[in-house]
Amino acid sequence: MAEKSTVIAWAEDLGYKVHLSSGDEHTIIGVIGDIRPLNREQVERMPGVERAVPVLKPFKVASRDFKPESTTFPIGQHMVGGKELFIMAGPCSVESRSQIIETAHAVKEAGAHALRGGAYKPRSSPYSFQGLGEEGLQYLAEAREQTGLPIITEVMEPALVPLVCEYADILQIGARNMQNYALLHAVGKSQHPVLLKRGMSSLIEEWLMSAEYILSHGNTRVMLCERGIRTFEKYTRNTFDLNAIPVIKHLTHLPIIADPSHATGKWEYVAGVAKGSIAAGADGVIVEVHPNPEEAMSDGRQSLKPEKFAQLVIEMKAIAQAVGRDVN
Ligand code: PEP
Ligand code: MN
Repeated sequence: MAEKSTVIAWAEDLGYKVHLSSGDEHTIIGVIGDIRPLNREQVERMPGVERAVPVLKPFKVASRDFKPESTTFPIGQHMVGGKELFIMAGPCSVESRSQIIETAHAVKEAGAHALRGGAYKPRSSPYSFQGLGEEGLQYLAEAREQTGLPIITEVMEPALVPLVCEYADILQIGARNMQNYALLHAVGKSQHPVLLKRGMSSLIEEWLMSAEYILSHGNTRVMLCERGIRTFEKYTRNTFDLNAIPVIKHLTHLPIIADPSHATGKWEYVAGVAKGSIAAGADGVIVEVHPNPEEAMSDGRQSLKPEKFAQLVIEMKAIAQAVGRDVN
Protein backbone atom coordinates (compact mmCIF):
# COMPACT_ATOMS: atom_id res chain seq x y z
CA MET A 1 0.00 0.00 0.00
CA ALA A 2 2.73 2.46 0.99
CA GLU A 3 4.71 1.36 -2.07
CA LYS A 4 1.72 2.15 -4.26
CA SER A 5 1.37 5.64 -2.83
CA THR A 6 5.09 6.26 -3.27
CA VAL A 7 4.93 5.37 -6.96
CA ILE A 8 1.80 7.49 -7.45
CA ALA A 9 3.36 10.48 -5.67
CA TRP A 10 6.54 10.10 -7.72
CA ALA A 11 4.56 10.12 -11.01
CA GLU A 12 2.40 13.06 -9.96
CA ASP A 13 5.43 15.06 -8.86
CA LEU A 14 6.81 14.61 -12.37
CA GLY A 15 3.57 16.09 -13.74
CA TYR A 16 1.98 12.88 -15.01
CA LYS A 17 -1.70 12.07 -14.77
CA VAL A 18 -2.15 8.81 -12.87
CA HIS A 19 -4.82 6.22 -13.52
CA LEU A 20 -5.17 3.36 -11.08
CA SER A 21 -6.58 -0.04 -11.99
CA SER A 22 -6.74 -2.62 -9.22
CA GLY A 23 -7.21 -6.21 -10.29
CA ASP A 24 -7.24 -9.40 -8.23
CA GLU A 25 -3.55 -10.06 -8.69
CA HIS A 26 -1.99 -6.82 -9.86
CA THR A 27 -2.41 -3.14 -9.55
CA ILE A 28 -1.69 -1.23 -12.71
CA ILE A 29 -0.55 2.33 -12.15
CA GLY A 30 -1.16 4.04 -15.46
CA VAL A 31 1.09 7.03 -16.03
CA ILE A 32 -0.24 9.33 -18.73
CA GLY A 33 1.90 11.93 -20.45
CA ASP A 34 5.15 12.09 -22.37
CA ILE A 35 7.01 9.11 -20.93
CA ARG A 36 10.10 9.44 -23.15
CA PRO A 37 12.25 10.99 -20.42
CA LEU A 38 11.58 8.03 -18.10
CA ASN A 39 14.16 5.31 -17.69
CA ARG A 40 12.42 1.98 -17.62
CA GLU A 41 15.02 0.15 -15.49
CA GLN A 42 14.99 2.97 -12.99
CA VAL A 43 11.21 2.72 -12.66
CA GLU A 44 11.44 -1.03 -12.21
CA ARG A 45 13.88 -0.60 -9.32
CA MET A 46 11.25 1.25 -7.27
CA PRO A 47 9.96 -0.90 -4.38
CA GLY A 48 6.78 -2.79 -5.26
CA VAL A 49 7.16 -2.35 -9.03
CA GLU A 50 7.22 -5.62 -10.93
CA ARG A 51 7.40 -4.27 -14.46
CA ALA A 52 7.24 -1.03 -16.39
CA VAL A 53 5.43 -1.47 -19.68
CA PRO A 54 5.13 1.35 -22.20
CA VAL A 55 1.59 1.48 -23.64
CA LEU A 56 2.35 2.29 -27.24
CA LYS A 57 -1.24 2.52 -28.40
CA PRO A 58 -2.46 6.09 -28.78
CA PHE A 59 -5.47 5.36 -26.58
CA LYS A 60 -4.37 4.70 -23.01
CA VAL A 61 -7.21 4.62 -20.47
CA ALA A 62 -9.40 2.85 -23.06
CA SER A 63 -6.78 0.18 -23.63
CA ARG A 64 -6.87 -3.34 -22.25
CA ASP A 65 -3.14 -2.99 -21.54
CA PHE A 66 -4.16 -0.39 -19.01
CA LYS A 67 -7.08 -2.29 -17.55
CA PRO A 68 -7.19 -6.00 -18.39
CA GLU A 69 -10.61 -6.71 -16.81
CA SER A 70 -13.71 -5.82 -18.81
CA THR A 71 -15.51 -2.73 -17.56
CA THR A 72 -18.94 -3.38 -16.06
CA PHE A 73 -21.42 -0.93 -14.57
CA PRO A 74 -25.08 -0.93 -13.61
CA ILE A 75 -27.76 0.89 -15.58
CA GLY A 76 -31.20 0.63 -14.05
CA GLN A 77 -31.67 -2.92 -12.83
CA HIS A 78 -29.02 -4.36 -15.16
CA MET A 79 -25.29 -4.71 -15.40
CA VAL A 80 -23.62 -3.67 -18.64
CA GLY A 81 -20.50 -5.48 -19.84
CA GLY A 82 -20.93 -8.62 -17.73
CA LYS A 83 -22.36 -12.01 -18.56
CA GLU A 84 -25.79 -10.64 -19.40
CA LEU A 85 -26.64 -8.75 -22.54
CA PHE A 86 -27.99 -5.22 -22.32
CA ILE A 87 -30.91 -4.62 -24.67
CA MET A 88 -32.06 -1.14 -25.61
CA ALA A 89 -35.05 -0.57 -27.89
CA GLY A 90 -37.49 2.10 -28.98
CA PRO A 91 -38.27 4.43 -31.83
CA CYS A 92 -35.75 6.45 -33.77
CA SER A 93 -37.55 9.66 -32.71
CA VAL A 94 -39.95 10.57 -29.97
CA GLU A 95 -42.95 11.66 -32.04
CA SER A 96 -45.72 12.09 -29.48
CA ARG A 97 -46.58 11.24 -25.91
CA SER A 98 -48.77 8.30 -26.88
CA GLN A 99 -46.23 6.92 -29.39
CA ILE A 100 -43.34 6.78 -26.89
CA ILE A 101 -45.46 5.50 -24.02
CA GLU A 102 -47.02 2.77 -26.13
CA THR A 103 -43.60 1.73 -27.43
CA ALA A 104 -42.07 1.80 -23.95
CA HIS A 105 -44.65 -0.66 -22.63
CA ALA A 106 -44.26 -2.88 -25.70
CA VAL A 107 -40.45 -3.11 -25.56
CA LYS A 108 -40.51 -3.60 -21.80
CA GLU A 109 -42.97 -6.46 -22.24
CA ALA A 110 -40.68 -7.95 -24.91
CA GLY A 111 -37.70 -7.88 -22.54
CA ALA A 112 -35.84 -4.61 -23.23
CA HIS A 113 -33.70 -3.16 -20.43
CA ALA A 114 -33.69 0.46 -21.62
CA LEU A 115 -35.84 2.70 -23.82
CA ARG A 116 -34.34 4.63 -26.72
CA GLY A 117 -35.89 7.63 -28.42
CA GLY A 118 -34.39 10.73 -30.02
CA ALA A 119 -35.64 14.13 -28.90
CA TYR A 120 -32.90 15.96 -30.80
CA LYS A 121 -32.35 14.40 -34.21
CA PRO A 122 -29.31 14.77 -36.45
CA ARG A 123 -31.01 14.73 -39.87
CA SER A 124 -29.24 14.82 -43.21
CA SER A 125 -31.80 17.36 -44.43
CA PRO A 126 -32.72 20.55 -42.56
CA TYR A 127 -36.26 20.07 -43.86
CA SER A 128 -36.73 16.68 -42.16
CA PHE A 129 -38.28 16.29 -38.70
CA GLN A 130 -35.72 17.59 -36.20
CA GLY A 131 -37.23 16.10 -33.04
CA LEU A 132 -39.51 17.45 -30.32
CA GLY A 133 -36.65 18.80 -28.19
CA GLU A 134 -37.38 19.23 -24.48
CA GLU A 135 -41.00 18.18 -24.97
CA GLY A 136 -39.64 14.84 -26.24
CA LEU A 137 -37.45 14.54 -23.16
CA GLN A 138 -40.49 15.07 -20.94
CA TYR A 139 -42.38 12.28 -22.70
CA LEU A 140 -39.36 10.01 -22.28
CA ALA A 141 -39.30 10.79 -18.56
CA GLU A 142 -42.97 9.92 -18.32
CA ALA A 143 -42.36 6.64 -20.16
CA ARG A 144 -39.61 5.84 -17.63
CA GLU A 145 -41.95 6.63 -14.76
CA GLN A 146 -44.55 4.24 -16.11
CA THR A 147 -42.24 1.36 -17.09
CA GLY A 148 -39.13 1.77 -14.94
CA LEU A 149 -36.99 1.56 -18.07
CA PRO A 150 -33.91 3.80 -18.08
CA ILE A 151 -33.78 6.25 -20.98
CA ILE A 152 -31.16 6.63 -23.68
CA THR A 153 -31.34 9.69 -25.91
CA GLU A 154 -28.99 11.61 -28.16
CA VAL A 155 -27.32 14.86 -27.20
CA MET A 156 -25.97 16.88 -30.13
CA GLU A 157 -24.34 19.94 -28.59
CA PRO A 158 -22.37 20.77 -25.45
CA ALA A 159 -24.82 23.47 -24.36
CA LEU A 160 -27.62 20.91 -24.14
CA VAL A 161 -25.71 18.35 -22.03
CA PRO A 162 -27.01 19.66 -18.65
CA LEU A 163 -30.63 19.65 -19.87
CA VAL A 164 -30.43 16.18 -21.44
CA CYS A 165 -28.74 14.88 -18.25
CA GLU A 166 -31.77 15.99 -16.23
CA TYR A 167 -33.92 13.53 -18.16
CA ALA A 168 -31.68 10.82 -19.58
CA ASP A 169 -29.96 7.87 -17.92
CA ILE A 170 -27.61 7.34 -20.87
CA LEU A 171 -26.30 9.97 -23.26
CA GLN A 172 -26.03 8.90 -26.87
CA ILE A 173 -23.34 10.43 -29.06
CA GLY A 174 -24.41 9.96 -32.66
CA ALA A 175 -22.22 8.76 -35.51
CA ARG A 176 -22.10 12.29 -36.96
CA ASN A 177 -20.75 13.65 -33.69
CA MET A 178 -18.15 11.02 -32.86
CA GLN A 179 -15.38 13.55 -33.38
CA ASN A 180 -17.18 16.58 -31.96
CA TYR A 181 -14.51 17.11 -29.34
CA ALA A 182 -16.31 19.87 -27.45
CA LEU A 183 -19.25 17.48 -27.05
CA LEU A 184 -16.98 14.63 -25.96
CA HIS A 185 -15.45 16.86 -23.28
CA ALA A 186 -18.91 17.91 -22.12
CA VAL A 187 -20.27 14.37 -21.78
CA GLY A 188 -17.00 13.30 -20.14
CA LYS A 189 -17.48 15.95 -17.47
CA SER A 190 -21.14 15.00 -17.00
CA GLN A 191 -20.31 11.59 -15.49
CA HIS A 192 -23.45 10.14 -17.11
CA PRO A 193 -23.13 6.76 -18.87
CA VAL A 194 -22.43 7.35 -22.56
CA LEU A 195 -23.13 5.33 -25.71
CA LEU A 196 -20.52 6.41 -28.25
CA LYS A 197 -21.47 5.50 -31.79
CA ARG A 198 -18.82 4.86 -34.39
CA GLY A 199 -18.56 7.54 -37.04
CA MET A 200 -19.73 6.28 -40.40
CA SER A 201 -16.25 6.63 -41.92
CA SER A 202 -14.18 6.24 -38.78
CA LEU A 203 -11.32 3.91 -38.08
CA ILE A 204 -11.55 1.82 -34.93
CA GLU A 205 -8.54 3.72 -33.64
CA GLU A 206 -10.25 7.08 -34.15
CA TRP A 207 -13.33 5.76 -32.38
CA LEU A 208 -11.24 4.64 -29.40
CA MET A 209 -9.50 8.02 -29.31
CA SER A 210 -12.94 9.61 -29.04
CA ALA A 211 -13.73 7.28 -26.12
CA GLU A 212 -10.42 8.38 -24.60
CA TYR A 213 -11.67 12.00 -24.57
CA ILE A 214 -14.64 10.94 -22.41
CA LEU A 215 -12.54 8.67 -20.19
CA SER A 216 -9.94 11.40 -19.69
CA HIS A 217 -12.50 13.23 -17.53
CA GLY A 218 -12.80 10.25 -15.22
CA ASN A 219 -16.12 9.19 -16.78
CA THR A 220 -15.53 5.46 -17.10
CA ARG A 221 -19.08 4.45 -18.03
CA VAL A 222 -18.64 4.40 -21.78
CA MET A 223 -20.24 1.90 -24.17
CA LEU A 224 -19.04 1.76 -27.76
CA CYS A 225 -21.63 1.22 -30.49
CA GLU A 226 -20.96 -0.29 -33.90
CA ARG A 227 -23.71 1.04 -36.20
CA GLY A 228 -22.30 0.22 -39.60
CA ILE A 229 -19.83 2.05 -41.79
CA ARG A 230 -19.97 3.48 -45.32
CA THR A 231 -18.88 1.13 -48.04
CA PHE A 232 -19.63 0.84 -51.76
CA GLU A 233 -22.60 -1.47 -51.04
CA LYS A 234 -26.01 0.03 -51.75
CA TYR A 235 -28.56 -2.64 -50.85
CA THR A 236 -28.08 -1.81 -47.20
CA ARG A 237 -27.86 1.65 -45.62
CA ASN A 238 -24.43 0.87 -44.16
CA THR A 239 -22.22 -2.19 -43.81
CA PHE A 240 -22.16 -3.71 -40.34
CA ASP A 241 -18.52 -4.20 -39.37
CA LEU A 242 -18.71 -7.50 -37.53
CA ASN A 243 -14.90 -7.47 -37.32
CA ALA A 244 -15.15 -4.51 -35.00
CA ILE A 245 -16.69 -6.61 -32.24
CA PRO A 246 -13.82 -9.02 -31.57
CA VAL A 247 -11.32 -6.27 -32.37
CA ILE A 248 -12.89 -3.94 -29.79
CA LYS A 249 -13.05 -6.77 -27.25
CA HIS A 250 -9.34 -7.33 -27.77
CA LEU A 251 -8.20 -3.69 -27.75
CA THR A 252 -10.35 -2.26 -24.99
CA HIS A 253 -12.12 -3.19 -21.76
CA LEU A 254 -15.19 -1.10 -22.68
CA PRO A 255 -18.50 -2.79 -23.52
CA ILE A 256 -19.50 -2.99 -27.19
CA ILE A 257 -23.11 -2.62 -28.33
CA ALA A 258 -24.42 -3.46 -31.81
CA ASP A 259 -26.92 -1.28 -33.68
CA PRO A 260 -28.30 -3.52 -36.43
CA SER A 261 -30.99 -0.97 -37.35
CA HIS A 262 -28.74 1.82 -38.64
CA ALA A 263 -26.28 -0.77 -39.94
CA THR A 264 -28.77 -2.34 -42.35
CA GLY A 265 -31.43 0.33 -42.86
CA LYS A 266 -34.04 -2.38 -43.56
CA TRP A 267 -36.08 -4.15 -40.91
CA GLU A 268 -35.83 -7.52 -42.71
CA TYR A 269 -32.09 -7.67 -42.05
CA VAL A 270 -32.08 -6.40 -38.48
CA ALA A 271 -32.61 -9.74 -36.71
CA GLY A 272 -29.86 -11.53 -38.65
CA VAL A 273 -27.27 -8.87 -37.86
CA ALA A 274 -28.41 -8.61 -34.23
CA LYS A 275 -27.96 -12.34 -33.71
CA GLY A 276 -24.63 -12.38 -35.55
CA SER A 277 -23.34 -9.59 -33.33
CA ILE A 278 -24.27 -11.50 -30.16
CA ALA A 279 -22.51 -14.61 -31.48
CA ALA A 280 -19.44 -12.45 -32.18
CA GLY A 281 -19.32 -11.23 -28.57
CA ALA A 282 -21.34 -8.01 -28.43
CA ASP A 283 -22.41 -6.98 -24.93
CA GLY A 284 -25.81 -5.82 -26.10
CA VAL A 285 -27.88 -4.25 -28.84
CA ILE A 286 -29.82 -1.08 -29.54
CA VAL A 287 -32.75 -1.72 -31.86
CA GLU A 288 -35.28 0.65 -33.42
CA VAL A 289 -38.86 -0.41 -32.67
CA HIS A 290 -42.00 1.47 -33.73
CA PRO A 291 -45.65 0.51 -33.20
CA ASN A 292 -46.45 1.77 -36.68
CA PRO A 293 -43.28 1.82 -38.81
CA GLU A 294 -45.08 2.95 -41.99
CA GLU A 295 -46.00 6.17 -40.23
CA ALA A 296 -42.71 6.82 -38.45
CA MET A 297 -41.27 10.32 -38.80
CA SER A 298 -37.76 8.91 -39.12
CA ASP A 299 -36.19 5.54 -39.90
CA GLY A 300 -39.50 3.68 -40.31
CA ARG A 301 -37.95 1.47 -42.99
CA GLN A 302 -35.54 -0.05 -40.47
CA SER A 303 -37.89 -0.20 -37.48
CA LEU A 304 -39.23 -3.48 -36.14
CA LYS A 305 -42.82 -3.86 -35.05
CA PRO A 306 -43.05 -4.80 -31.35
CA GLU A 307 -44.01 -8.44 -32.13
CA LYS A 308 -40.93 -8.87 -34.32
CA PHE A 309 -38.77 -7.35 -31.61
CA ALA A 310 -40.23 -9.71 -29.01
CA GLN A 311 -39.36 -12.67 -31.24
CA LEU A 312 -35.84 -11.31 -31.72
CA VAL A 313 -35.28 -11.12 -27.96
CA ILE A 314 -36.17 -14.82 -27.67
CA GLU A 315 -33.73 -15.70 -30.45
CA MET A 316 -30.96 -13.49 -29.05
CA LYS A 317 -31.31 -15.26 -25.71
CA ALA A 318 -30.70 -18.62 -27.40
CA ILE A 319 -27.60 -17.30 -29.18
CA ALA A 320 -26.40 -15.69 -25.97
CA GLN A 321 -26.67 -18.96 -24.08
CA ALA A 322 -24.80 -20.77 -26.84
CA VAL A 323 -21.82 -18.44 -26.31
CA GLY A 324 -21.81 -18.44 -22.51
CA ARG A 325 -23.90 -15.28 -22.06
CA ASP A 326 -27.53 -14.79 -21.09
CA VAL A 327 -30.50 -12.44 -21.34
CA ASN A 328 -32.57 -11.63 -18.28
C1 PEP B 1 -30.11 7.15 -34.21
O1 PEP B 1 -29.74 6.38 -33.29
O2 PEP B 1 -31.31 7.35 -34.48
C2 PEP B 1 -29.06 7.76 -35.06
C3 PEP B 1 -29.23 8.96 -35.60
O3 PEP B 1 -28.00 6.96 -35.22
P1 PEP B 1 -26.55 7.26 -35.89
O4 PEP B 1 -25.96 8.39 -35.12
O5 PEP B 1 -25.83 5.96 -35.70
O6 PEP B 1 -26.79 7.58 -37.34
MN1 MN C 1 -32.58 6.33 -36.29
